Amino acid sequence: MIYLDNAATTKPTEKVLRHCEMILREDFYNPSALYYPAIKIKTKIEQARKSVAEKLKCFADEIIFTSGATEANNWAVGCGFKNKKGNLIISEGEHPSVFESAMALKAKGADVRIAPLNTNGAIDCEKFFELIDDNTAFVSIMHVSNETGATNPVVEIAGRAKKINKKLVFHSDGVQAFCKIPTDIGPTSIDLYSISAHKIGGLKGVGALYISKNLNMASMMLGGGQERRLRSGTENVMGILTFEDAISDFDTDCVKPLFEYIIERLSKIDGIKINSFPENTSGYIISVGISGVKSEVLQHLLCDDGVLVGLGSACSSKTKKNRVLESMKITKDFIDGNIRISLCPQTSIEEIKTAVEIIEKNICKLRSKING
Ligand code: PMP
Repeated sequence: MIYLDNAATTKPTEKVLRHCEMILREDFYNPSALYYPAIKIKTKIEQARKSVAEKLKCFADEIIFTSGATEANNWAVGCGFKNKKGNLIISEGEHPSVFESAMALKAKGADVRIAPLNTNGAIDCEKFFELIDDNTAFVSIMHVSNETGATNPVVEIAGRAKKINKKLVFHSDGVQAFCKIPTDIGPTSIDLYSISAHKIGGLKGVGALYISKNLNMASMMLGGGQERRLRSGTENVMGILTFEDAISDFDTDCVKPLFEYIIERLSKIDGIKINSFPENTSGYIISVGISGVKSEVLQHLLCDDGVLVGLGSACSSKTKKNRVLESMKITKDFIDGNIRISLCPQTSIEEIKTAVEIIEKNICKLRSKING
């Protein structure tokens, strides 16, 4: 199988896999226990925390490990929007874990404002800044889109937003950015930042929320007081320790030629619209609209031929709507035929060459069937 759905999840790296067995066999103690083997694990967790903090250029005690980014995003929106007073602003491009959290607040009466996207998938900054007023209490703008790979300059956006209203809390979902583009979040106006291990070769079920020292955040879970009393629960030792392995293994220099090759080859096909743009991309995700085909059918055919690609993740099977692509003003024909190709450092150019040929072949096959 040629696996090109790395924005959904990645295969754990060899280092992670090897370390897992060792942890399960030897580091199984409860890190809160006071005997030596357990204290050793606590020390390793603190080392992993430092590695995450180094990547975000923040202090280690600003990193709180969670069960993943869905939890981190729910926490950020639910508790970052303090006292539930004033308004909160998100973008139309947000992952459902942010979007639905905001919608839940709206259902309880909160004033939720939604900033639209540009046709290149980034947030429309001018429209966004117009939404901020003296009552804006919370903002959540993602760093990289999980659908198109479009990047938002969140550091600058947060700085400008706080010039308009210095009291607002600024969150960014950094899941598809972490390790892939610069994420020097610590010294900036960003207060909260979510990440997840399984998008970079780590394990599912572990992530983290960066909480700036300047922010007084309410606890996510009460109990034994782990994670600075903010997120109780026995630590996911295997997830946290291998998060560090995944970070150290991640090689950022290798996907650019693959990204360029895919765009160059697929743009030559008639009726194709590439929704990922070299000037504002993470370089890891290529969203491709293909007119005259149904993406689910194409996905199945590709799977039969050994190529795994994704579909727009916010596409609800009931409504067949895609909030993100619609906000980019992409027409229905291209949305219905949208696939998402996403890369990781282990993806090879040989795999991409083979996959592109198989994609081309199956587009022709489907179109010729439809056209009789
Ligand atoms: N945000 C984004 C942008 C994502 O791509 C994902 C994963 N699909 C999440 C949040 C949720 O992450 P997790 O799987 O760790 O809950």
